[in-house]
Amino acid sequence: MNNRDCSQYCDYGAGFREIHEECGVFGITTGGDASVDVREEVRYALYALQHRGQESCGISVNDEGVITTMKDVGLVPDVLTNEALGKLPRGQMAIGHNRYGSGGTVDFLNAQPLHIRHAKGTLSLAFNGQLTNSVQIRQEHQQQGIIFHTDSDAEIITYTIAKERLTSHSTEEAVRRAMEKLEGAITMVVMSPRKLIAARDKKGFRPLVIGQLPGGGYVFASETCALEVTGARFLRDVKAGEIVQVEDGVLSVYQEGTEKPSGLCIFEYVYFARPDSVVEGQSVHHSRKLAGALVSKIKPVEADVVIGSPDSGLEAAMGYAEASGIPYGVGLMKNRYIGRTFIQPTQREREDSVKIKLSAIESTVRGKRVIMVDDSIVRGTTSKRVVKILRDAGATEVHMRVASPPYINKCYFGTDNTEKRNLIAARTDVEGIRQELGLDSLAFLPLEEMLKVAPDAGCGFCIGCFTGSYPVDIEKAKEKDKFNEKIKNKR
Ligand code: SF4
Repeated sequence: MNNRDCSQYCDYGAGFREIHEECGVFGITTGGDASVDVREEVRYALYALQHRGQESCGISVNDEGVITTMKDVGLVPDVLTNEALGKLPRGQMAIGHNRYGSGGTVDFLNAQPLHIRHAKGTLSLAFNGQLTNSVQIRQEHQQQGIIFHTDSDAEIITYTIAKERLTSHSTEEAVRRAMEKLEGAITMVVMSPRKLIAARDKKGFRPLVIGQLPGGGYVFASETCALEVTGARFLRDVKAGEIVQVEDGVLSVYQEGTEKPSGLCIFEYVYFARPDSVVEGQSVHHSRKLAGALVSKIKPVEADVVIGSPDSGLEAAMGYAEASGIPYGVGLMKNRYIGRTFIQPTQREREDSVKIKLSAIESTVRGKRVIMVDDSIVRGTTSKRVVKILRDAGATEVHMRVASPPYINKCYFGTDNTEKRNLIAARTDVEGIRQELGLDSLAFLPLEEMLKVAPDAGCGFCIGCFTGSYPVDIEKAKEKDKFNEKIKNKR
């Protein structure tokens, strides 16, 4: 078992940031096409979804009803090696998972898929999201004698489904009944010996799509970017509240959903999703460019060059440059090869690590008035270092434009962000942030403009981290904060 403090690891793939998505899920059935190797396809898909979680990953393969699971702490190329996949059966169905945990630990036990044997068989589950009533459901289970091995919501969900299965006629019925009891952001794929099931909560917090393989098989994936790599054609999004399943190669709807989500996390467009993904019909790339264009209208400033903060600020910077007419330049370069082994045990080393991970391109910024565009500011520590890097490289002025509103509230729906006390915008106003970061000027995208960044999605959004008003009641979720605090103190 590997259990260690993950705060000392730098990010991989998704920039180095102060907020993290917590998981990517994937499921596949061959549809009888023997040329499809589900192990390989899961590996490709998890590569594509690596940005959604970098702590652990895993795969469950279903071969004629027998499910075998392999998972470990680490990135996809480290865990799903040729040797590891070679030990798994070829199979006709599989699910996979990338995890970024919220508990502050990198823990083998929390890795997914979670595979259990229950009274009526076996099932394997891959989950993205966060329960808001996990403490209450966990207590109910514990009072009935269930022993938990992890502090993950996935285990609570798996046991809830297993318990419902005792009195249900089918796994999909057990999933439906479990979904009625569970509250919060829930996106999951569940595999039983005969079926692959995908479910999404009623608000549709996290994305989930259905694709079809050329040979007739189906895939479920957190994002469309995982379809391309498996050769699957996009069919549609799983609807909010919908439960769909594939059995004997046939895709069917078990529970109808609502046409459009009412609580899709707007941060999927701002930062989480990969730019080449399409979420609810909206290109993430175009959404970010639009956000950049919209923020260019707020507090215009004369400048010589617009640069983006890698990676998720780049597209917003392009949008800003196009809309403002100020030239776009590549002003910051990220070192992509540091990986997860770079350890930063002290604050000093953590600060220095920004210099190692990011450097300025002097010829772009020296002697220039620079506008730096980023997708968001959470704690502000990274932005502060970046401003210094730009000034040290000779920028005469540094103006920052943020393609989302001030981030002032905790998220309860599956992102590993920080407590409110650590959010810079919750502590001080825009002028206070400007001073703290050492900027010449600073402006954020106002909330009413933010709501325009995904015109093709046509759905409702969660904007809780900007407003403090969430699509579902979060009172029970606050109990979880206390629970997590207790767990942390015991470690
Ligand atoms: S609170 Fe913010 S990060 Fe969390 S789901 Fe809502 S919009 Fe997304």
